[in-house]
Amino acid sequence: MAVPFRKTSKTRKNKRRTHLKLRVPGMVECPDCGEMKLSHRVCKSCGSYKGRDVVSK
Ligand SMILES: [Zn+2]
Repeated sequence: MAVPFRKTSKTRKNKRRTHLKLRVPGMVECPDCGEMKLSHRVCKSCGSYKGRDVVSK
């Protein structure tokens, strides 16, 4: 059932929105260059994967 928004306190609203996060999932720090990259993907900035250079520059 709908509740008028003035009846919902700031605390209750904020508690509900703790699950709404603005972040990209599956991002890890590259062990080679320290940049944020997608896990299980080749690093975009240094082109390495599993400690090896797999993209030639
Ligand atoms: Zn990297």
